[in-house]
Amino acid sequence: MKVTIIGGGAAGCFAAANLKRLSPSLEVTVLEAGRKPLAKVAVTGGGRCNLTNTFDSISDLREAYPRGDKLMRRLFTVFGPEETRRWFENEGVRLVEQDDGCIFPTSQDAMEIVRTLESLMRRLGVGVRTSFRIREILPEGSGYRVVPTGGESVLTDVVAVMTGGGPSSFLSPLGIEIIPPVPSLFTFNIDDALLKERMGLVIPETVLSIPGTKFRSSGTLLITDWGLSGPAALKLSSYAARYLHENGYRAPLSVQWLGGMDLEGIRMQLDALQASHPRKLAASVHPVEIPSRLWAFLLGRSGFRPDQRWGETGTKGMNRLADTLYADRYRIEGRCAFKEEFVTCGGVALAAVSPKTLECKTRPGLFFAGEALDIDAITGGFNLQAAWTTGFIAAMGMSEYCKKTVSLSYDGQK
Ligand SMILES: Cc1cc2nc3c(=O)[nH]c(=O)nc-3n(C[C@H](O)[C@H](O)[C@H](O)COP(=O)(O)OP(=O)(O)OC[C@H]3O[C@@H](n4cnc5c(N)ncnc54)[C@H](O)[C@@H]3O)c2cc1C
Repeated sequence: MKVTIIGGGAAGCFAAANLKRLSPSLEVTVLEAGRKPLAKVAVTGGGRCNLTNTFDSISDLREAYPRGDKLMRRLFTVFGPEETRRWFENEGVRLVEQDDGCIFPTSQDAMEIVRTLESLMRRLGVGVRTSFRIREILPEGSGYRVVPTGGESVLTDVVAVMTGGGPSSFLSPLGIEIIPPVPSLFTFNIDDALLKERMGLVIPETVLSIPGTKFRSSGTLLITDWGLSGPAALKLSSYAARYLHENGYRAPLSVQWLGGMDLEGIRMQLDALQASHPRKLAASVHPVEIPSRLWAFLLGRSGFRPDQRWGETGTKGMNRLADTLYADRYRIEGRCAFKEEFVTCGGVALAAVSPKTLECKTRPGLFFAGEALDIDAITGGFNLQAAWTTGFIAAMGMSEYCKKTVSLSYDGQK
């Protein structure tokens, strides 16, 4: 039987290699629009490929997968991060774990992952055709006709769409529900010259939220020359991807500069500072978590004079400062790419696929995996993990589908 995988990215190549291992007699071909397969994997993680994560910092999968957490939870029971690590290690890739849970090849070279997948596909006999962009998929007989933008079409028994987060208009004739794609993982433009003067500052523990919504993230924040970046901003962009898109990337933003500390706790900390340093300049004594350059800025935002001493500060001033530390307000005025790293929120609706096999519920023999599905994650190796997991599950699903189809046609001949 013939299996055609459209898209030679992380999910497509991983699925192809695993399918060929599970069912060596299948004719498996990857059709890739670009000149080379795995071009994106080669640039992941700044060229180092953050291929998965320990998940130690995640208490609920929803934190990592704002879209698709339930399906990922289910699929991880079959092929999760542990299986992924073992899979790559069995292929000879040594892995290293960072303190933040991100996992990279020890070589710190994404090309090692590319070469590993490419040579495995070659050894197993997976066919790869490049510069082959699919324009249309049409049902034909018991299979599908895959039509490229130029050249001859391909007739196949099974087809898998693993084309990443790009446009999927070629799926429209098949009547498959697509959740409209919008960008995720971006940083925020903030139009505040005084804030931007603090560019380069890293604040280790902050909480960001969009007032009036449930969107909230925590983590390190980085002040840049265009606004705010760092894990906390990227996470919030992921959680609120659709909301921000609908609002033209304009929204209020609240920053808690002292992490999860509540207003009362902040006020107590400030009162203690005031009591123990009444003669000192407010600018010279500050909570340890706040870098001095940021502290001076936050005092200014709270109406403090540069020469103001703790002892001269009245209740109003203390309250204003506590409010600034607890809920400092800015406005998001647009988005900016994060080191070229982005993912797409949206894609094939998860309700359209079997959660066991990732086969389309209405089109037998049509499978999906990777970012083409409505699954996406925050940064940290979780997106590639979704590609490996869904690629593996779709490979299992295709293998089973082919076995069943062959045995049915054999029974029919008896
Ligand atoms: C710069 C950058 C860095 C990243 N770094 C990380 C990281 O370190 N860790 C992490 O977890 N995630 C990272 N990501 C996200 C991660 O790369 C993606 O989530 C992952 O590659 C998705 O895999 P995929 O196979 O679904 O899609 P892709 O890897 O995008 O592959 C899809 C393939 O399909 C092909 N294709 C598309 N349309 C067609 C068509 N019509 N016909 C034929 N072929 C087609 C494309 O050319 C592409 O090769 C990064 C993303 C970017 C952009």
